[in-house]
Amino acid sequence: MTKVTRFAPSPTGTLHIGGVRTALFNYVYAKQNKGKFLIRVEDTDAERSTREYEENILKGLSDIGINPDEPPVRQSERSELYQKAVEQIIESGKAYYCNCSKERLDEMRAEQQSKGLKPQYDGKCRNLNLKPDSSTVLRLKTPRDGELIFHDLVRGEVIFQNSELDDLILLRSDGSPTYHLCNVIDDYEQKVTTVVRGEDHLSNTPRQIHIQQALDYPSLEYAHLPMVLGQDKKRLSKRNAVTSLQDYFNQGYLESSMINMLARLGWSKGDKEIFYLDDLISDFRIQEVQKAGAIFDSVKLDWINNHHLAALSFDDFKAKLIPFLDSIDIDFTQKTNSDEIIQAMRSSKPTLLGVAKDLIPYFSKVESYDEKAAKKFLSGSESVLEFVQRKLNSLEVWNEESIDHALNEAQTSLSLPTPKLNQPIRIAMTGSTQSPSLGLTLSLFDLAEVNNRIDAALEYLANSN
Ligand code: GLU
Repeated sequence: MTKVTRFAPSPTGTLHIGGVRTALFNYVYAKQNKGKFLIRVEDTDAERSTREYEENILKGLSDIGINPDEPPVRQSERSELYQKAVEQIIESGKAYYCNCSKERLDEMRAEQQSKGLKPQYDGKCRNLNLKPDSSTVLRLKTPRDGELIFHDLVRGEVIFQNSELDDLILLRSDGSPTYHLCNVIDDYEQKVTTVVRGEDHLSNTPRQIHIQQALDYPSLEYAHLPMVLGQDKKRLSKRNAVTSLQDYFNQGYLESSMINMLARLGWSKGDKEIFYLDDLISDFRIQEVQKAGAIFDSVKLDWINNHHLAALSFDDFKAKLIPFLDSIDIDFTQKTNSDEIIQAMRSSKPTLLGVAKDLIPYFSKVESYDEKAAKKFLSGSESVLEFVQRKLNSLEVWNEESIDHALNEAQTSLSLPTPKLNQPIRIAMTGSTQSPSLGLTLSLFDLAEVNNRIDAALEYLANSN
């Protein structure tokens, strides 16, 4: 049978890391089984659901290449389907109307809690054959005894006692269907075969299976994924991590890096760390997903992004970098050797925004010196700066090799350790002690600019004395 999976987000917030991981695993499982991946927008909570959130979720997924095989459906537009299924369930006698007041239910709950019991509906109206009116809800006649057992692709056999589950509300008193009912009907109507979702839904599954059975729907395959945790081992939230996918893109993490990172949240394949979507489709095994919570590690994400950036051709790297250069007003076209500069700096930071920021001193004047670096290496370096400047001005050829040669000669003449010679020049050129090798760094500028920058550093030293 063709496998059909679905991602069923509630559009009550922007797309977050945990959601993307669920969508990704659904997508990969469908694709590797030559099946279908669907998206269903669960927007029955009209107060909290918005179209903006829905768009954000769908766009975020499509940005990383997770597109559904059919246009997404919205629960808010499917009431007729729910109505029909409700009629069927009522006719079968597997549901009943209940008019217990809120006061009665509150009292009952309080009493059960005071006795240390799990609060649940006592079934008072179960056999009263009440007719619907504006005060009644429709409840499912959940079996009272026995066990509900289902097989989970991640967790193995999962057992719930029916006595722990009460008679779930299917229709509210205003006639609107509840979340569980819509979810079950939609999975059936969309011909879903496999439900892959977060472990937080595990306790919903026996309730939903009872609804399924009452409607004579075929059973489904389930896989409940471990929760995504922050580095503090608490559930991933805005408090312990950046959770919005868009925020990662804004920093310059690649789409492919995010996929790679998310795939590793709860799944691994030996020592292999670098995965692209196609690798996942061939390598991923849902049965290998771990049960324990999966920690989202931002240091690892940096490492992964570094790899994915390094694997890009120069042209692809540059194309991806340009929007970040634009965002911080770097006009790279002003320099004829901009490609050389970008190539020299492309691995300076693990994100595109980080690299773009590191490129600032190559495309505009050094506005200030890193305070610590200046104190440590620039102060008292006047004679070194002047000596090296003279040496550089005596060069007949201006390239990395000749500059390196001049720097070596300067070091021998002054008998200084490398940092004492190199760092003052590096700070003069870029404002900080971080740059590629000094010969390469200097060769990215013309001699006139090198003179300007060394003069500016000397002036700075003269003024700060
Ligand atoms: N709408 C639910 C959520 O956003 C998902 C339900 C499901 O996957 O069955 O958490």
